[in-house]
Amino acid sequence: MASASLSAVPQTAHPPLTDSHGRVIHDLRVSITDRCNYKCVYCRTGEAGAQYPELSNREYLRLIGLFASLGITKVRLTGGEPLLRRDLLELVRELAGMRTQAGEPLDLALTTNGHLLEGLAAPLKAAGLSRVTVSMDAVDAPTFERITRVPGSFSAVLAGVRAARSAGLTPLKINCVLLRGFNDGQIEGFVRFTREENVVVRFIEFMPLEEGRLWSPEIVVPLEEIVARIGRVMPLVKLAARDAGETARRYTFADGVGEIGIIAPVSQAFCGACSRVRLTSDGKIRTCLFSQVEHDLYGRLRAGESDAELRTYIVRTVAGKEARHHIGEPGFLKPSRSMVHIGG
Ligand code: SAM
Repeated sequence: MASASLSAVPQTAHPPLTDSHGRVIHDLRVSITDRCNYKCVYCRTGEAGAQYPELSNREYLRLIGLFASLGITKVRLTGGEPLLRRDLLELVRELAGMRTQAGEPLDLALTTNGHLLEGLAAPLKAAGLSRVTVSMDAVDAPTFERITRVPGSFSAVLAGVRAARSAGLTPLKINCVLLRGFNDGQIEGFVRFTREENVVVRFIEFMPLEEGRLWSPEIVVPLEEIVARIGRVMPLVKLAARDAGETARRYTFADGVGEIGIIAPVSQAFCGACSRVRLTSDGKIRTCLFSQVEHDLYGRLRAGESDAELRTYIVRTVAGKEARHHIGEPGFLKPSRSMVHIGG
């Protein structure tokens, strides 16, 4: 495919994308499908499939190229399940050829449930992907498959994790969303997993982004409790943050083997350090996971707007990024889309 995207970089560098709260935005999450082959009990109702259209690779590349020309340095492909896109390898190959304002390759990552990763890890690495994050909510097969509602999913994902590590898609992160009464009994098993599998395990607090109505403050397992429970298995040693915008609190153990991260958007929100915007599979900009409004970038592309016009629209939209989310506050409104349709 011709690299239409690369021509999107303007001759003179645009000042970095900044919102009206002074946050510099350099991280773009792009959903490339809202289809998913899992029906995780805390995410999907189990009935609905895709709800929104997908764009062509060429269209995603043009839009991502515009963001890169405005200072985005990190692109994470997600979904839905991004490995379901048949033309994923071509997309990754094209993105690997894209350059940041500074002329560097993008930091190119992907989040997946890992089900199809065993066969795709090496081709993805060869296409130019830097890293993957695999979502895994349990380390024993029965619990895992009760959550995903797909028989055989545990062995498929474990094979995917190992293939990704062998392919060099590292550091390999495993994301686990903890829900009290569903999988909080897995915390201790994940301590073994990080140490035995040489992966970074990150626990994430459950947010009110599900298709159904499961979320309550009580179902969230907060950071302090996770730290205390791990500490009872093996004492944790705190790791220094690598940068101010780091979302995870990071820990290792006394012998330095294994790494645990905890991402606490509910109990210890990090909105002040947010450097992220999202593009949905149908080409809408979301400036916050919890936005009540979306911004139809693709509609403008379809209407024939020039790159310069689309850049102006992106700059104006990002400037209006919300200061913070309001989870747990009176009057909190769930966003118009659930996580699977936004892009996690
Ligand atoms: N299918 C891919 C995967 O499984 O990683 C990418 C999309 S999935 C929506 C991205 C991540 O969002 C997964 O790790 C999933 O566990 C997480 N997630 C889904 N609903 C969530 C919620 N309500 N709160 C926190 N994380 C959630």
